Amino acid sequence: MADRLMRALAYDGQVRVSAVICTDAVETARKRHDAFPTAIAALGRTMASTLLLSWGLKGEGSITLRIFGDGPLGGIIVTGDAHGNIKGYVQEPQTDLPLNARGKLDVGGAIGKGDLYITKDIGLKEPYTGSVPLVTGEIGDDVASYLMSSEQTPSVVSVGVLVNPDYSVAAAGGIIIQAMPGADDAVLDDLELKLQGARAVSGLINEGADVRGIIQNYLPGVEVQFLEEKEIQWHCNCSYDRISGLLKSIGVDELEDMIEKDGETEVVCHFCSSHYHFDRQQLEALLEDMKQDLQK
Ligand SMILES: [Zn+2]
Repeated sequence: MADRLMRALAYDGQVRVSAVICTDAVETARKRHDAFPTAIAALGRTMASTLLLSWGLKGEGSITLRIFGDGPLGGIIVTGDAHGNIKGYVQEPQTDLPLNARGKLDVGGAIGKGDLYITKDIGLKEPYTGSVPLVTGEIGDDVASYLMSSEQTPSVVSVGVLVNPDYSVAAAGGIIIQAMPGADDAVLDDLELKLQGARAVSGLINEGADVRGIIQNYLPGVEVQFLEEKEIQWHCNCSYDRISGLLKSIGVDELEDMIEKDGETEVVCHFCSSHYHFDRQQLEALLEDMKQDLQK
């Protein structure tokens, strides 16, 4: 089943819900980065969260989640855009810890203590960035804490990744349920009751649930108004031109130095691990471009 994102309203518009299935995108990330189970669980949960929070992005808008903890994973950076594209990486993808006390992949232990940063670029002059200290490092809780402190929106965020014994990704996705301002107490009480019986999203996806099914499983018997369903996909927008631009930004002296010493260079895109090789001729052409730009 293709990766999908669904947005919906429930309880007569008093509650906003999004569900996402991103199994293929997370499996692509795993292969790209050769990530081990704990690392791909952390990256996959961050990818699912980013997709869930991409509500309201338009045109060239984007959202970036960054998690910096003191655990063995290092940082995690994920960016999503309005077109359902998602990309991301973790600093130490070969991190793998023993299962935690509950028999789950120890994402919180791998991330450690630190902060979550969310940057939303909705086309204004300056993108908005907010941050919160990590609560558990399990990512869902941390994103919910961010939404409470930064947007004053009580939210339940459940994100999960199920990994097969051969390390491939069996299921990845999540759900976010948010009370809109002024929601009735009765609605919140009913919601709380329903969520007590909720199951892990990754398990539902593994059993073949689609995005509607995930929402209906979390809100049994509740009338849901489905608004928008769209495909999402792993996509990195790096290219030879973009990387050339990056190389140019290091400065004339450094580039001359590089040509003299090595005669070639290889640049790796962090987000997708694509390799870009520049030989002497290509580097000299870049240098020529830079010198011409400087004369303008
Ligand atoms: Zn890339």
